[in-house]
Amino acid sequence: MRVTQQPQQFASDNYAGICPEAWAAMEAANKGYAPAYGEDDWTQRAADAFRNLFASDCEVFFAFNGTAANSLALAALCQSFHSVICSSSAHVETDECGAPEFFSNGSKLLVASTADGKLTPAAIREVATSRSDIHFPKPRVVTITQPTETGQVYSIEEIQAISATCRALGLKLHMDGARFAQACAHLGCDPAEITWRAGVDVLCFGGTKNGMAVGEAILFFDRGLAEDFDYRCKQAGQLASKMRFLAAPWVGMLESGAWLRNAAHANGCAARLAAAIRDVPSVAPMFTVEANAVFLRAPATLLEGLRARGWSFYTFIGGGARFMFAWDADPARVDALAADIRAASEETARAAA
Ligand SMILES: *Cc1c(COP(=O)(O)O)cnc(C)c1O
Repeated sequence: MRVTQQPQQFASDNYAGICPEAWAAMEAANKGYAPAYGEDDWTQRAADAFRNLFASDCEVFFAFNGTAANSLALAALCQSFHSVICSSSAHVETDECGAPEFFSNGSKLLVASTADGKLTPAAIREVATSRSDIHFPKPRVVTITQPTETGQVYSIEEIQAISATCRALGLKLHMDGARFAQACAHLGCDPAEITWRAGVDVLCFGGTKNGMAVGEAILFFDRGLAEDFDYRCKQAGQLASKMRFLAAPWVGMLESGAWLRNAAHANGCAARLAAAIRDVPSVAPMFTVEANAVFLRAPATLLEGLRARGWSFYTFIGGGARFMFAWDADPARVDALAADIRAASEETARAAA
């Protein structure tokens, strides 16, 4: 079998392959027989590795992807007549095809407009208190994305302030951590500090964008909220029969520290690109670069010039070019991208002159 190797692209962090630690654990799990449906030692060990990392006796579940993890977690926190407050740019709102509403049998997402994709106590309070009559779905949960879809990281203090607002308003706090590791790497903090110690009730911890083939973990820090969650996963088609292959990569990632190393490397590559193009005319970052994303605002002709030089990227957020860096991003390739951005800028300037 021959497959042509394409040059590395930064269009998405899920273009990347599987990191060695996750792969080795899969291979180690691929020996002999093990009980099915999560009754195996790998699943126990992965759940324990999470409890260790978070210094919490949390309930841990494994799902195939982030849409399922988020949707089922939110459904577990809501009755069908409840609502969920999120940012207008939240993945649950813009990229999950209505799955949170579907799996909750109708819990409505209430969108707060935010300047930079981050929810604030004021925005939450405004949405949560806008109505209190029987005709409107009752606010029940706040969901925040850490880091946000555009790569902004909530500080510990920001999360504490949000959770204090949630407590005051009787709301639960859910965190979409599809890139949770990148947030930890940026803040240099203990995972517990931006989750249960700061008042987060449920975390969806992403493995896919951190170097695994597939898999997200759902952590209930308040164990009572996890009641019957196993049935919810099964009904939604999210209970893997060969669970050990969903669990083992987590063992490889968490026990080796690869989860944090991978994230720090990815963040470093984003910072590298941002620094290298800082002085390029007519190109400007749309958001502060804190995690593994760089969004660039640039004229359409410049972006065309970049595509002509062989680069793939998406422009679905505000028309800017999005570059996402994964665990295996090659710094030399990052430098090549920076050089091509500079060349495309010069070409655009010459054409305009
Ligand atoms: C990628 C991503 C998810 C999960 O997406 P799936 O494709 O369902 O795995 C969830 N939230 C955010 C912010 C994401 O970027």
